[in-house]
Amino acid sequence: MPIDIKEFEKKFEWYPFGRIQDFLVFAGQLQRHGYTLEDVKEYVETKISEQEILRKKYILYKIDCPKCGDPLWLLPVNDKPSTQTGDDSKTVMMCKNPDCLYTEFSTKDINELVYEMIMKQKGGN
Ligand SMILES: [Zn+2]
Repeated sequence: MPIDIKEFEKKFEWYPFGRIQDFLVFAGQLQRHGYTLEDVKEYVETKISEQEILRKKYILYKIDCPKCGDPLWLLPVNDKPSTQTGDDSKTVMMCKNPDCLYTEFSTKDINELVYEMIMKQKGGN
């Protein structure tokens, strides 16, 4: 039975057409690999709670600048055209202190760096 296009558009006018197209591609891949929407929900909830834990731990385990001791900024690089560094680094750590400006690039991503820090702190206890 064909759907009522007008009614469909009215119910989902808040959802961009491009996203509906993306959803179709994604749903096709889910089906192909035997996953359900419940599986996707579980995946998203797991990722969110993992990121939440990392974010909380990051606040607890701040990285201090090895030069001056001020907190470092962790920023992703090479993730978009404006942050290209010409190498394979994924993260830059920059000192927030304008008199120091210590900078270090890493091939690890932010989650890996934070995880490593947490492990170091645990090991140091
Ligand atoms: Zn510094």
